Amino acid sequence: MERCDVAVIGAGPGGAAAATWLARGGADVVVFEKAGRGRDKSCGDGLTPRAIAEIRRLGLDISRFHRIDGLRVQAGRTVREVRWPDGPFPPVGAVAPRAEFDAMVMQAAVDAGAELRERAAAEPLLEGDRVVGVRAGADEVRADLVVIAAGAGSAAARLVGATRVEGSPFGLAIRAYAPSERADDRYMEACLTVEGPDGSIVPGYGWVFPAGDGIVNIGVGALSTMRNFTGLNLNTMLDAYAAQVGVSWQLGPFTDRPRAWRLPMHVGRRSGHGWLAVGDAAGLVNPFNGEGIDYALESGRLAAEAFLELPNTAPARYEAVLAHDYDPFFATARRFAWVIGRPRLLRALLALALSTGFTMELVLDIMANLVDEQHPGLAGRLLDVGGRALAVADPVLVRS
Ligand SMILES: Cc1cc2nc3c(=O)[nH]c(=O)nc-3n(C[C@H](O)[C@H](O)[C@H](O)COP(=O)(O)OP(=O)(O)OC[C@H]3O[C@@H](n4cnc5c(N)ncnc54)[C@H](O)[C@@H]3O)c2cc1C
Repeated sequence: MERCDVAVIGAGPGGAAAATWLARGGADVVVFEKAGRGRDKSCGDGLTPRAIAEIRRLGLDISRFHRIDGLRVQAGRTVREVRWPDGPFPPVGAVAPRAEFDAMVMQAAVDAGAELRERAAAEPLLEGDRVVGVRAGADEVRADLVVIAAGAGSAAARLVGATRVEGSPFGLAIRAYAPSERADDRYMEACLTVEGPDGSIVPGYGWVFPAGDGIVNIGVGALSTMRNFTGLNLNTMLDAYAAQVGVSWQLGPFTDRPRAWRLPMHVGRRSGHGWLAVGDAAGLVNPFNGEGIDYALESGRLAAEAFLELPNTAPARYEAVLAHDYDPFFATARRFAWVIGRPRLLRALLALALSTGFTMELVLDIMANLVDEQHPGLAGRLLDVGGRALAVADPVLVRS
């Protein structure tokens, strides 16, 4: 039977980042990817300053992707534009189509010395409650650690019990590409008042992310906490949203079939004997803004750091870092998801957030998790106080 130090299941941003850092640190890594380089992933392709910082840390040159200077938020007739803050993260964003971006991260893992097995669907190999390696078809590879990086709702994650916490919020979103006269716009646009086919406001949000080269990424999404969530038809909603913004963006017809997928926001078990989960498999999507690429890259690095420091106890120490550095923010964001599930509260909060450029900047800092930990400032204090208040209100929010 083959052996390696670490076997990684899935070579999206989470798995590929883990493999890159591990291989650079001298570990013998085998990555199993059921698709391969160049595979697409349903995504908005949006990279915030937080993601850019992590990508730079990984040493990737993404200058070929379309640069983004800030965010434009639209709600009804109100439109506000804010530039990325010049704080702890670079004031730069990007829109990077996933087929290309993911191929680049996979290549980084290969360049670092990881072995990438493409078109190889794998599952964790269990002995009792311990994961001892992976099985891919007829092949079995033993490993000291298995990194589950297979994305949202994968069978690999289910096998080890890394599943959504019952009743916790999650997102659903759909995206397509379309030609646009404004594909060189430097702002990502988010719309919080998406109109249905009859012109009434439907729960959820829409986005147009300009990707350069004549193309934009357009999509809509909703949180499970929103009213009428189960009755939503994402395809109809996307068509209606494309009609709503079609004139302003000078949109042409979709160039591909719209593709929908889940955004997991709370997974019960993220580690165990011989394994840990990163990225979507660990439920690490920011409920405030649906961002998951950055957290996949970050958690991949944290998993690698834990293993390189002390292999035997890596899962427990990785879990402790997530619990300390990430869970408080994610818990607040999930509670907020219950708040904005109420249309009246959402309208009141939107009016406040969009009332001035200053309030909009604060909201961006909080929602995109761009608060400076050393100097938290007003945004950090608001996040702290809001987090405490939401924690107190939590039982009522969830029950109602
Ligand atoms: C419509 C939509 C829009 C989004 N927009 C954004 C956005 O604009 N910005 C942002 O930051 N995030 C966005 N997200 C979230 C983001 O796409 C994910 O958080 C991110 O892809 C997570 O990366 P990952 O590496 O954990 O998983 P993935 O990117 O899903 O990668 C998992 C990999 O595992 C492979 N795999 C699965 N099962 C197996 C198996 N058994 N064996 C081997 N390989 C396997 C898959 O082929 C895949 O390559 C969006 C999500 C959706 C659905």
